Amino acid sequence: MSEVLNVQYNNEPCYDIVLDDSFEGLAERISGLGFSGRKIAIITDTNVEKLYAEQIKECLETVSPTTVVYAIPAGEENKNLSEIEKIYQVLIDNHFDRHDLIVALGGGVVGDMVGYTAATYLRGIAFIQIPTTLLAQTDSSIGGKTGVDFKGYKNMVGAFYMPKLVYMNVSVLNSLPGEQFASGFAEVMKHGLIKDSDFYMWLIDNMYEIEEKDPETLMSMIKKSCSIKRAVVEKDPTEKGDRALLNFGHTIGHAIEKYKDFTLFHGECVALGCVAAAFISWKRQMLSMEEYYEIRDMFVPFGLPISVTDIDAEKVIELMHSDKKADGNTIKFILLKKVGKAVIDPSVTDDEVREALKEITWTDDFE
Ligand code: NAD
Ligand code: ZN
Repeated sequence: MSEVLNVQYNNEPCYDIVLDDSFEGLAERISGLGFSGRKIAIITDTNVEKLYAEQIKECLETVSPTTVVYAIPAGEENKNLSEIEKIYQVLIDNHFDRHDLIVALGGGVVGDMVGYTAATYLRGIAFIQIPTTLLAQTDSSIGGKTGVDFKGYKNMVGAFYMPKLVYMNVSVLNSLPGEQFASGFAEVMKHGLIKDSDFYMWLIDNMYEIEEKDPETLMSMIKKSCSIKRAVVEKDPTEKGDRALLNFGHTIGHAIEKYKDFTLFHGECVALGCVAAAFISWKRQMLSMEEYYEIRDMFVPFGLPISVTDIDAEKVIELMHSDKKADGNTIKFILLKKVGKAVIDPSVTDDEVREALKEITWTDDFE
């Protein structure tokens, strides 16, 4: 039951996103891209290696005489240049040249790191994405943003570099821990909120099936989410304009993520950031009160937070201004003009953010 979406880059067809429920079609796709007989390096992380590396290796051995598997230690803390150096070394030791192929098998961390390795090794070698988290399948594997963290700064070093293929097998989500699934779902909700109110309503109507990971529902959800992300990145591949809409929920979300020293999941911070941004949109009379509360409460069944304890609003605001996306002192805040239509608004004041942070701060004193 495979489905294909093509992504354009600068108005030219660039790469296919294949959605499937197995890895059966992978080898054929790779040989269709002209990599039969070439070396293939499967770069993964230590968790995903145990689950899927052997299966992918066997699959790729049918088209490649040399397949190498290398696993980065799992976790965002390893998304750095010293781990990239180790990948370069594996490629050099195995004599990879510019005609060979690298496969990124894993979540967003692996995808971003392998993409960056591919962009820079020998000034560019082909790579494909096999995303294995909900976040990677609906968000990070599409659009060609690659990179690593640097000395505590997230995604500070990187490149735009397009994959040759994104192959997603939705059944791998069955092994994904619940909190990782929920974290990815926050980005799916975001896609509905910024671009497609019908999809947002569909998510509400299919909440139970999504939670149960019903295969057909997941396939439809991921396909729709991918097509929203695709439309945004096709219009603005290098984030000069509209791609900023994808930052909905991320302005305050990132600041909370940093303030909490990355102890919360990214999607949890995105959920909080979405609630805060929806609150500001309501206060500006762009959303009705009912719409605001509906958005807020939609995160709850997925175990995503809509309030947080122990927040120092002034520190969070300070962190928000220091984010690299803050342009001078103006923050390109993303608000909802209505459900399904986000707008960039540079006029959001610290006072509005303060009020929104108060709204999402959990307190147990009833005065
Ligand atoms: P991740 O890659 O760390 O994966 C989360 C955890 O799940 C890891 O421990 C991983 O080993 C494990 N895992 C992965 N697939 C699994 C599976 N099928 N079964 C069981 N365990 C599995 O995190 P993530 O949330 O996928 O990605 C986050 C990263 O993505 C961040 O570094 C962020 O900066 C980046 N990102 C990039 C973009 C982009 O456009 N490039 C967009 C959003 C986020
Ligand atoms: Zn995000």
